[in-house]
Amino acid sequence: MYFTEQHELIRKLAREFAEKELTSEILDKVEETEMFPEEILNKMAKAGFFGIKVPKELGGQGADARSYVIVMEEIARVSGVASIYVSSPNSLSGGPLLLSGNEEQKEKYLRPVVTGKKKLAFALTEPGAGSDAGSMATTAVKDGDYYVLNGRKCFITMAPLADYAVIYAKTDMTKGTRGISAFIVDMRLPGVSCGKSENKMGVVGCATSDIILENVRVHKNDLLGEEGKGFINAMKTLDTGRLGVSAQSIGVAQGCLDEAIKYAKERKQFGKRIGDFQAISFMIADMATKLEAAKQLVYKAAYMMDMHQDASMNASMAKYYASEICNEIAAKALQIHGGYGFIKDYKIERMYRDCRVFTIYEGTSQVQQMVISGRLLKK
Ligand SMILES: Cc1cc2nc3c(=O)[nH]c(=O)nc-3n(C[C@H](O)[C@H](O)[C@H](O)COP(=O)(O)OP(=O)(O)OC[C@H]3O[C@@H](n4cnc5c(N)ncnc54)[C@H](O)[C@@H]3O)c2cc1C
Repeated sequence: MYFTEQHELIRKLAREFAEKELTSEILDKVEETEMFPEEILNKMAKAGFFGIKVPKELGGQGADARSYVIVMEEIARVSGVASIYVSSPNSLSGGPLLLSGNEEQKEKYLRPVVTGKKKLAFALTEPGAGSDAGSMATTAVKDGDYYVLNGRKCFITMAPLADYAVIYAKTDMTKGTRGISAFIVDMRLPGVSCGKSENKMGVVGCATSDIILENVRVHKNDLLGEEGKGFINAMKTLDTGRLGVSAQSIGVAQGCLDEAIKYAKERKQFGKRIGDFQAISFMIADMATKLEAAKQLVYKAAYMMDMHQDASMNASMAKYYASEICNEIAAKALQIHGGYGFIKDYKIERMYRDCRVFTIYEGTSQVQQMVISGRLLKK
């Protein structure tokens, strides 16, 4: 209902790519080495996955939010971690540049990210400022043509791999969130370092670490947008970014449901396929129904964005519901696998771990509930 023939073609291409390139052999190797093969990333860049929503003038595909959702969904259906490499340039890291970057900044920093030559991170969270990101302690003090940055960001996706990072810091400590500015920081600048790569439960193969800033001199040309407008930039980026996590969630959930159905048809106990027991078949009915409901929320939010409607609350609803039911579906799919689901030889074990973070990053479920209820109860 929300899609055109063109969208269906994009789905077909993304599905074929995921099934051909993201083989079990490669994904097992990613888990083992904690590294994602550059060769696959190059293929993803060539397929145009890193700039789906980025205008053609900047090397992107100039496509819409629905196309982005479709690609994310199909890649995540096979690999949650691979989908992070798609979401990052399209959403969290590319988003701030698309929103506030001048032509020179977009050309210098966004084009190489879209074409897969460089990697860009998005650094908002701090050890003492997670859901309450506005309470950040990182500072940026003006010194002639430079800003001197000091502070520590944490849980930053791709930080150890990144060439640049969008860093949010306070240029005015007295103005609260209106004192926050955004900067594009070259990760090779003196004073920038990364903490150890976090030993994560899931989405292994896309390194996450702290970024430490010690007297880092950032030229004023790398201020992103106006001074004091950084928090608005971050919130607007997250507004649309949430759509990416919701798409990731329906993708992984579909992958889990597929695995559960396959297993329920194969596995026999008490002389029957386990799918013939009502306890199992009704579990599958439940999973499929909730997944369909989540898909409709995600597709509607994307459609609203494409129609230039205010989709902020709908994106939160989509992220909240899709990430929660993805976890529920993954848990049920694992249950259907019995003891085998607990063993790493079965895909469901990885999927179950990968989706755990979906209700946490880019705004926890509780933060989404705050956004939704805040809209509905607005005075
Ligand atoms: C794998 C991974 C990748 C990440 N990537 C990035 C990244 O690239 N860039 C980046 O900037 N950040 C990133 N993050 C950080 C992520 O966005 C934060 O972890 C998240 O926003 C929650 O912050 P917190 O962990 O400090 O939890 P807290 O904010 O301390 O929350 C703890 C608990 O309290 C609840 N809570 C907090 N406030 C309220 C409230 N007012 N009402 C009700 N409940 C509340 C939360 O929902 C949660 O359940 C990443 C995190 C992970 C795990």
